[in-house]
Amino acid sequence: MGERKRGREGEEPPFPLAPFPPLSGATTRLAVLLGDPVAHSLSPRIHNAAFRALGLDAVYLACRVAPADLPAAVAGLKALGALGASVTIPHKEAVVPLLDRLAPAAAATGAVNTVVFEDDGAVRGENTDVEGFLQPLRPHADRLHGAAMTVLGAGGAARAAAYALLTAFEPTRLTVAARRPDQARRLAAALGPHDPYDALRPIPFAEARAAVRESILVVNATPVGMAPGDGETPWPHAEDFHTSQLVYDLVYAPAETRLLREAAAQGAEPLGGLAMLVGQAAAAFRLWTGLDMPLEAVWAAFRT
Ligand code: NAP
Repeated sequence: MGERKRGREGEEPPFPLAPFPPLSGATTRLAVLLGDPVAHSLSPRIHNAAFRALGLDAVYLACRVAPADLPAAVAGLKALGALGASVTIPHKEAVVPLLDRLAPAAAATGAVNTVVFEDDGAVRGENTDVEGFLQPLRPHADRLHGAAMTVLGAGGAARAAAYALLTAFEPTRLTVAARRPDQARRLAAALGPHDPYDALRPIPFAEARAAVRESILVVNATPVGMAPGDGETPWPHAEDFHTSQLVYDLVYAPAETRLLREAAAQGAEPLGGLAMLVGQAAAAFRLWTGLDMPLEAVWAAFRT
């Protein structure tokens, strides 16, 4: 067999290398996605491409788990010696009480998207959506530091985005616009301890036009525009976008949403949600394996 690619130079993975495919001998390690539904998830494609490219003897499976079965699923994975688990809708909050430890981003957002089974037997919850969200913004850090920003939506992704923006860029103003203003107020209250400069402004969606126009960054953290509703946009006032803005759509299917097309037509720089999806997976992969995800192989897997 030819030489296999490794992760960081000189670094050995924490479990044995074996040919892949075929799956598996007696040493194959397991990572899973826990969600409901999971049938359309891209995570198996991402993680299995990475395992394969690095020649790691591990496999990632998507498991549909009903809410009532979540405690048994987490306990079962621990008993089976799994590498880890990704967690998605509807379990990101429900999994918290089942864990022994929470990483700071998970504690701040109240949501876990990655479970790590530690060597000492503890089960740790992480929120790698925070790191994944920041990935495509890092090259723009100079523009973003101390800027005004707007997040559309106030659910789980909005919470991860708002926490990430507060901690990474110290915005002067961070408007959170929601159709249910009480949801935006709850988000602001929960993130209050991470908002030392009082930047968070929860407002109703209908009153967000001035904030959108003044923002250097506008984030769509609603599902509006996601297939099959890809003719829709969360922000029908395309004239509010302009050349000094970044418009970041967390929706990743389709890769180019109506929001991004309209923002780009106004001269704004569009950022799609696929980079966040891969970024959060890469952060989880690093927690499970100690290795950097081979991103080229992962992006190639999307093209096949
Ligand atoms: P969520 O917790 O259900 O929150 C969705 C938010 O959008 C809520 O505030 C919801 O308000 C609002 N919303 C829904 N429909 C709306 C509409 N028609 N007009 C205005 N607001 C509306 O969902 P989530 O987990 O935060 O996910 C949000 C989006 O981000 C999804 O498209 C998801 O795929 C995407 N996402 C992407 C990544 C990535 O890696 N790229 C990661 C996480 C999430 P109500 O509560 O009133 O409905």
